[in-house]
Amino acid sequence: MLRVQNVTFQYDTKVVLKNISMELNPGKQLSIIGESGSGKSTLLKIIYGLYHVEKGKIFWGDTRLLGPNFNLVPGEEFIKYVAQDYDLMPFITVEENVGKYLSNFYPRKKSKRIAELLELVGLTAYAKTKSTDLSGGQQQRVAIAKALAQEPKLLLLDEPFSNIDNFKKNSLRRELFSYLKSQNISCITATHDNMDSLAYADKTMVLKDGKIVCVDDPKKLYKSPKNKYVASLFGEVNELFEKQLIPNSTSNKKIVCYPHQLELTENGTLKVKVKNSYFQGSHYLIESSLRSKTVFFNHPVAIEADQEVVLKSNFS
Ligand code: ADP
Ligand code: MG
Repeated sequence: MLRVQNVTFQYDTKVVLKNISMELNPGKQLSIIGESGSGKSTLLKIIYGLYHVEKGKIFWGDTRLLGPNFNLVPGEEFIKYVAQDYDLMPFITVEENVGKYLSNFYPRKKSKRIAELLELVGLTAYAKTKSTDLSGGQQQRVAIAKALAQEPKLLLLDEPFSNIDNFKKNSLRRELFSYLKSQNISCITATHDNMDSLAYADKTMVLKDGKIVCVDDPKKLYKSPKNKYVASLFGEVNELFEKQLIPNSTSNKKIVCYPHQLELTENGTLKVKVKNSYFQGSHYLIESSLRSKTVFFNHPVAIEADQEVVLKSNFS
């Protein structure tokens, strides 16, 4: 089990992580989301052991991880960290990269392992290709296979699917996370692909300015976001007064709601003027204005600009 206890960290003078505490059990998957610069990558690097932590402690089970000042080569052996820049050897093939740290003592076992991992990341056909001849997304997949080759207990992935197109991303993600579960490997994924993190994470941690805003089951986090910041990580979001949404209410309490929670109605209290309709595939996202405020809602078809419409909430 990984335990991070009260970690505060600064680069030079700038404090970028403030009093971070968290736990992760074997085989569990945590996603870390938060706006750019909120400290996601720094937290992964600290857990891996690239930076020395002066304030706070990190444990794996009962063992304290002491960081780079106490290790000849920075980075713990049972943890693998896939950075945003992949770290592949450019002029050797995909299979050589994946097998780089595997023992040559049992060559047949080694090639079987490499083949298994290449299949997992969907790169079997590229086994003999030099890494320099791969696309960014393919290199990203090689880096994941290479990290898994050494059977880590904890895998740290920094924006792992950022260069992989949607079509391949979905299948890779499904395969990868079911593999991690089957092998009981814990995994922490830093991502700005927030909707994605909802599908596979056991827990999601939200970071803002180096502080934990909340850690929760991703479904709960999405359905009842703690505040506008959390909700806005999942797309457009509205912040309205209760009296604007709930009939007969006079309350000025603020309510955060997503575009799909608002719909057109015949009569209601929330009158808006349509500005733009954006095609989203299954529906349109309508941008409208309520005096100076922007309100987003979903609608099956586009609505002409300048038309005035009335909205109500459909909270279930
Ligand atoms: P995220 O991954 O969430 O985008 P980072 O952990 O990369 O956030 O960065 C957190 C903060 O630390 C940012 O303000 C960033 O500018 C700063 N930072 C990141 N790396 C360094 C570094 N090597 N030296 C100094 N400041 C850094
Ligand atoms: Mg980052």
